Amino acid sequence: MTATRDDILAELHLAPRWVLRRTEAPEPAKDVVPAPSEALPAQAETVPVSEPAPRIAIQDTDTTEARRARIAALSWADLPGDIASCTACKLCATRHKVVPGVGDPNADWLFVGEAPGAEEDARGEPFVGQAGRLLDNMLAALGLARGRNVYIANVLKCRPPNNRTPEPAEAAACSPYLARQIELLKPKIVIALGKTAASLLLGTEASVASLRGRIHRYQGLPLVVTYHPAYLLRTLPDKAKAWEDLVLARSVIEQTAGEATP
Ligand code: URA
Repeated sequence: MTATRDDILAELHLAPRWVLRRTEAPEPAKDVVPAPSEALPAQAETVPVSEPAPRIAIQDTDTTEARRARIAALSWADLPGDIASCTACKLCATRHKVVPGVGDPNADWLFVGEAPGAEEDARGEPFVGQAGRLLDNMLAALGLARGRNVYIANVLKCRPPNNRTPEPAEAAACSPYLARQIELLKPKIVIALGKTAASLLLGTEASVASLRGRIHRYQGLPLVVTYHPAYLLRTLPDKAKAWEDLVLARSVIEQTAGEATP
């Protein structure tokens, strides 16, 4: 028997369902939308207790144009290895695994988060903790799935200790990697999840609240800012706004598809 979306959402304990109210998206949403779970199963941070990462001497940080130009010429296949050997900031000394990103290299949708947390650092994959489960639920509500027309990356490819906010120098040192990923992916829409991603990609210190709900541009690509899933886990009322942002993003994709078919 084929499971319906409702079955899947029920299985994921995604109740109550949301009914989307009016949206400013050009394409009015008709969907009945599930609320990402308010009671996601409590998850202990299952970080393997492993050997500490070998201390890596931080090289004289080469954040120069030369490094930027070198990264800007990397192929998709070369990016993970280059990131794995990166010592451009101090986070290389404490990381267990680098977290370059995951998903479909031909994706229309690119989601950009902040930085790996403990579970991501242990597994080398972005958004695998509790915030990741919420992100997966948001993708499912859009009829998407991790790795299927979706790519997920972070501003930082290495975990900041204690999940602290990335320092500007760390974001600057890592930014050529995200820039190259976006250039190679050429997604139809970029979703900046939270303030760190929005600030880096749009070069602004404006709040998410003031940036969300409209379409911005990054290097000519449409970009929508919305709340970070970790924030949404703490601030339930803003989930509806996040859904509106995703519907707006979907309308951009649909519009592009319409333009492509004469
Ligand atoms: N938060 C992020 O921004 N990225 C992750 O990969 C996990 C949590």
